[in-house]
Amino acid sequence: MIENYTKMGIYDGIVQTIGNTPLVRLGKIERYFNLRNELYAKLEFFNPGGSIKDRIGKYMIEGAKREGKIVEGGVIVEPTSGNTGVGLALVAADEGYMTVFTMPDKMSTEKELLLKALGAFVIRTPTAVAPSDPNSYYRVAEAVRNLIWKKGRSISREELGEIVKYVQRLVDEERLDELRAILEEEVEETPYAYIPNQYFNKYNPLAHYETTAREIWEQTGGEMNYLFAGIGTGGTITGIGRYLKERKKDVRIIGVDPVGSIYSLVKKGMSLEEALKKAHPYLVEGIGEDILPETVDLSLVDDMVVVNDQESFAMTRFLARKEGILAGGSSGAALYGTIKYLKENGVEGKKAVVIFPDTGRNYLTKIFNDKWMLKNGFEIDDEKVLEVLR
Ligand code: PMP
Repeated sequence: MIENYTKMGIYDGIVQTIGNTPLVRLGKIERYFNLRNELYAKLEFFNPGGSIKDRIGKYMIEGAKREGKIVEGGVIVEPTSGNTGVGLALVAADEGYMTVFTMPDKMSTEKELLLKALGAFVIRTPTAVAPSDPNSYYRVAEAVRNLIWKKGRSISREELGEIVKYVQRLVDEERLDELRAILEEEVEETPYAYIPNQYFNKYNPLAHYETTAREIWEQTGGEMNYLFAGIGTGGTITGIGRYLKERKKDVRIIGVDPVGSIYSLVKKGMSLEEALKKAHPYLVEGIGEDILPETVDLSLVDDMVVVNDQESFAMTRFLARKEGILAGGSSGAALYGTIKYLKENGVEGKKAVVIFPDTGRNYLTKIFNDKWMLKNGFEIDDEKVLEVLR
């Protein structure tokens, strides 16, 4: 074995490379927008799967293993189309678990191929169905879990492939009664198939409490005044917010919410029912919700700032050109929200940390593609959109 192993940057497996991402000062952005604050971005695309979700993939799988919720040779099943799937798939590959992801058919083929490249099985489900319908991606994940449970033992990759093919056929042929019958079976938890469910999983915020937050605290030496983060499941802002507030009472935690999401409305005191009436679709991916997940604690969030798609995308594109940082749309949203908030509130002389959750490579055919931008009615003169922030 090579001497000074970890010191030389050598690891025993890919999972060990998750976390310890850099914090990068956004000097060009500060100057361009005449900010009198220091901005530091936590670049989560340095994780091996390209996003912050590798952290929770690792935590949810290791947690399940420790608690006996999954055994060797078991299968991880999760309804997800995005970064969480990649995080789970790569950790599962490293640890020897099989994975099945159910995803609505509006999601790009690239995403399906990416998960399959990491060894996962993928089942496509119709997009335009209610979550409670037997062919929604939530319920189809449960159907797979139930069929594995029925076997009562761990299964081979071939057997899993058969189950996946069978369920895909039921979905494609709209054999809803058969799906319903599978779902209605009284299934106990089985260690042979486990659905982590990131919206309810305590290891989601815990991953950020124990890793993301601690890194930020150590990197800044506690010398920070603001934390800005988008909210999807809320795991990021909840874990980081809790850790920082325990150490520094006056640190301000600011949530960045897309127009159309319920979070900023609920935070303002609106009931969930009222907020849902105002909720509408938007294009920025990974942030905002139309549910209140168990993984978010809005009491840790001091204030919210709202950002629309156009603003998010203009900032994402500008960031890549100005700083050479190719990040995703929720990063642009978080940065736009940060600058807007600091300016509108006359904040000066402070240090702010902003979370950039994933890589821009996920959006080369969307945000970074002028044709796509124009087709969706967006301005592609980014500087023009950003002028209001200067
Ligand atoms: N940005 C992107 C691109 C994401 O995939 C997610 C996760 N949904 C988030 C931001 C928000 O993170 P969290 O779920 O921890 O709130």
